[in-house]
Amino acid sequence: MAIVVQKFGGSSVGTTDRIMAVARRLIAAKERGNRIVAVVSAMGDVTDELLAKALAISEEPPEREMDMLLATGEQVTIALLAMAIHAQGHEAISFTGAQAGIVSDGSHTKARIQEVRADRVMEALDRGFIAIVAGFQALTPEGDITTLGRGGSDTTAVAVAAGLGAEVCEIYTDVDGVFTADPRIEPKARKIDTISYEEMLEMAATGARVLQLRSVEFARNHGVVIHVRSSFSDMPGTIVKEADDSMEQAIISGVTHDTSEAKVTVRDVPDKPGVAAEVFGRLATDNVNVDMIIQNVSEDGTTDISFTTPKEDLVRARRAVAEVTEVLGARSFSVDESIAKVSLVGAGMKTHPGVAALMFRTLADADVNLDMISTSSIRISCVIDAAQVQTAVSALHEAFGLAEGLVMVETSPSATEGGAL
Ligand code: ASP
Ligand code: MG
Repeated sequence: MAIVVQKFGGSSVGTTDRIMAVARRLIAAKERGNRIVAVVSAMGDVTDELLAKALAISEEPPEREMDMLLATGEQVTIALLAMAIHAQGHEAISFTGAQAGIVSDGSHTKARIQEVRADRVMEALDRGFIAIVAGFQALTPEGDITTLGRGGSDTTAVAVAAGLGAEVCEIYTDVDGVFTADPRIEPKARKIDTISYEEMLEMAATGARVLQLRSVEFARNHGVVIHVRSSFSDMPGTIVKEADDSMEQAIISGVTHDTSEAKVTVRDVPDKPGVAAEVFGRLATDNVNVDMIIQNVSEDGTTDISFTTPKEDLVRARRAVAEVTEVLGARSFSVDESIAKVSLVGAGMKTHPGVAALMFRTLADADVNLDMISTSSIRISCVIDAAQVQTAVSALHEAFGLAEGLVMVETSPSATEGGAL
């Protein structure tokens, strides 16, 4: 019998009625002849509420205690879901992350899974139970509770699927799958049927919130097939797997946006060796994540350095940059919180030149100014004014024919030379 892991996010288990509905879905899947493991998030906005309580007490609560607090959210859901399955006449058993053998490193609030010792879950399946595992939480080898970062239940689900050798990891959510753009800001966005790990990684890294980035990394590293689908319908969603010839060959898979970052600029730093090392070394020591970086052309022996960072790291970033400004004798620093990053993702751009040119032309025609630009081999990202996100996303969605699912058009022979953006 195939093992199927089904993960349900916060909105899918947001009320007791919805928990009863999830129980029915799990029972039905079991009755179709599968061995079922459920991985669940905290109900509704519980994690946000717990966070708000902690922040009402302290601006920077100890991270170990934060994990102790946040892990309670998922524990409520696993118990209620097990009860819901019992109430419908079937057998289920709930496990915390620790009980399910999910071992992580000790980096509290963003721990990494090191190992899944799935024996206890496997034994429950052998006995015919539906096994229910708390998402988002793990245990260090020293016995401390950790959490895996926001959205971490996705990673729990994929890790459990890998540990059990499951046939598929189904991620149930409140949307129908992965879309060519966020349907809330682009009504013409289209559901993608299949997407490669590579593209999904870039989409998740640039703002497609449907899957936690680490879950996609974990799935790619362990070959776990993910099926993202709606918990409110039986429609097939989006399959995330290794690229193969059967996939649609769109040049661009999607356009993503992200308003969760801020831009920090340090002005008039001396233009000499070691300056960038000093700035970013200090930020790394203080655990500040940095995304895009640009350094201006030097004038009069000084230059400006700008970078983007998640707003949630801003308290630490400001402190670190204030110190570095002092140490380097830079003129000043500033923080801009009203920026957005808009990205185009598609494996086809490796072999199709002109994508960057069309992207910049489209944004120019829409009167969108580009503040920063960065690229990977299958992604181009631009930082723009947050107020123009919707305009930018719609214009790009249109220009690249994403609503129609335009497939790759072979152009000139130079199109296969590769590398060109
Ligand atoms: N409850 C956690 C969060 O809200 C983990 C998850 O839902 O995946 O981020
Ligand atoms: Mg989620």
